[in-house]
Amino acid sequence: MSARPCLPARLTLRLLLLSSLIAMASVFADSTLQPVRLQLKWQHQFQFAGYYAAIEKGFYAEAGFDTQLIEYSGGTDLFEPVISGDVEFGLADASIVVKRLQGNPVVVLSTIFQHSPLVLISLKGSGILSPYELIGKRVMFQLGADDAAIQAMLTTLGVRQFEYQLVPHNFDNFALIHEETPVDVMSAYLSNQPFLYQEKGFDVQVISPANYGIDFYGDLLYSNEQYVKDNPDRVQAFRDASLQGWQYALAHKEEVIGWLQDKYPSHKSEAALRFEANIIEQMVAPNFVALGSLNPARFERIADIYKQLNLAPDNADLSGLVLSDYLRSESEANQRLLQVIASVALGLTVALAVLIIVLRSLRLTVKRRTAELNQANQALSHQLELTDRYVISAVVDREGHFLQASSALAEVSGYSQDELATMTSHQLVAPHMLDKRQAILDQVFQGESWQGELQYRNKDGRDFWVFLYIDPMQDAHGEITGYRSTATDITEKKVIQRMSETDGLTGIANRAKLDKVLSVEWARFERYGKALSVIIFDLDHFKTINDDHGHLAGDRVLIRVAQVVETLLRKMDVLGRWGGEEFMVILPETHLEAAGQVAEKMRLAIAQIEEHELPSVTASFGVAGCNETVNHSERLILLADSALYKAKENGRNQVVLAS
Ligand code: GH3
Ligand code: MG
Ligand code: MG
Repeated sequence: MSARPCLPARLTLRLLLLSSLIAMASVFADSTLQPVRLQLKWQHQFQFAGYYAAIEKGFYAEAGFDTQLIEYSGGTDLFEPVISGDVEFGLADASIVVKRLQGNPVVVLSTIFQHSPLVLISLKGSGILSPYELIGKRVMFQLGADDAAIQAMLTTLGVRQFEYQLVPHNFDNFALIHEETPVDVMSAYLSNQPFLYQEKGFDVQVISPANYGIDFYGDLLYSNEQYVKDNPDRVQAFRDASLQGWQYALAHKEEVIGWLQDKYPSHKSEAALRFEANIIEQMVAPNFVALGSLNPARFERIADIYKQLNLAPDNADLSGLVLSDYLRSESEANQRLLQVIASVALGLTVALAVLIIVLRSLRLTVKRRTAELNQANQALSHQLELTDRYVISAVVDREGHFLQASSALAEVSGYSQDELATMTSHQLVAPHMLDKRQAILDQVFQGESWQGELQYRNKDGRDFWVFLYIDPMQDAHGEITGYRSTATDITEKKVIQRMSETDGLTGIANRAKLDKVLSVEWARFERYGKALSVIIFDLDHFKTINDDHGHLAGDRVLIRVAQVVETLLRKMDVLGRWGGEEFMVILPETHLEAAGQVAEKMRLAIAQIEEHELPSVTASFGVAGCNETVNHSERLILLADSALYKAKENGRNQVVLAS
């Protein structure tokens, strides 16, 4: 007798294997999925991208969850469903800390947004440029629910609650322009309402806590304490699947925007969603901080502010706020890890068996694929059409004439393709960029490629920014006959960048920008030994100006001083607001004595400001320059600061050079 089973027996064996596989698969498919609910903070929009991705891409299902998302439209207590245990998971901003301090059983599972998009907005022209102008105004935000960063900013600046009229949030995006509820200022998301107003033709002014040194967490994923205690593994699995969802969503923003148009209908336009997606990505900050990173010190800071506001008891502490406070010991975790490895191994074996079956059926598929190939050809020509429509590209000859221009270039530039055919490419470049462009083309005509940012001007005279790739074109003899360029429109990114580096009141650089410039200039000094000086100046008795003439007049003085000083500087010098009524000027390639002379000019110019209804003001200056004893940029600032201190001590309205 043969040792091998006969043919019918092998067939039966195979069928048996197959049917048991199918049975296992169906067990995994339905009965194990646990229904859970996630309470969103608002209606469907890109803010929740990661959770849609975790559902659509099956990350929740893989972790054993059938997740239902619940929209929020205001009016009820956002935290109540999770606190009462009706809903398993919720989203909150750093205000969750006050809930915990007040004794509510909430547990933070993970950070999602490293920064908060929460800002205050007012209509442009309302004259409300800084938190000081809130005094006497109708200000709308949610007290203790979604306001951590705003409370912190107001507390830090000493603007007290009785000084403005707090209006409860009515969740109307357009509360600034609806006549029946005319609030002057409202809390808003940088990713949201500014764009909605712009779509309606209104410009808004943004007061951002970040510009006043307040940088809190934005959206956090949280759960109910009892639920966490009863299901620590499940809670971790849900958190991990959510983070996986975020990872996917940020890498596939357009796909998420597609879902927001059919599966999770959002009330926003495609353009608004795209704008939101870009800001949300900056809030998650995936390029700087690993997704989900959590720093207890940031929670402590928030807790302190709530205690100062008497919104939380002084003796309350933060123990139990974060998930790690509930997780089991390591040995248990190891045991769990072993279980996971065992089930992964089982899964792999099953997958291998399935693979063998699939490979067999593949042969039959080949025929079908041939037919599909024909379809793919059609798809390719469709792709080419899409490329023309959506990719900004051109072919340009040595004299700058457009030999080809894509429809996308026509659209962004405002000229038709026929018009472009009669133009030369330099007509599109913003005038102040022409020199830079010439230098780039010189390089390209040497046979080198170039890539970088360039500013253009469209037919209506409006500027737009692109990131540009330029490659030279050669003929058969190696002569360069022109170039090909492809570009992406980065105007939105530029606008956001400018907003984040500008002081809202004076329009000059803010502190973040000054820090950035200083580190670049310091590196240049260290590397090439070029001279570098800084001036710090502070307005004299400015508190008295505010007290005697009001904050608004104080603000106007700050704006005017910035304007006057700016006119005295060279192009490479950078003036910025160092804080309050204190300014800094960074002067590259300038020695201490020369910087001192510049400061003296500024001092005279400020003291001579004479304008109708503008109180007069003087300033004191500290100047410091790099030399062998200065071994760090912070030391340079310290020197300028103590020189400024001396100038104040010696009677103000004077320049002191650091010795
Ligand atoms: P000194 O000559 O010693 O510098 O006196 P000072 O009064 O200028 O100094 P102090 O630091 O006591 O006060 C600074 C004041 O500047 C207090 C603060 O209210 C005001 N201030 C800071 N930022 C702004 C702002 O954006 N607008 C207005 N109007 N005032 C501001
Ligand atoms: Mg001062
Ligand atoms: Mg000061």
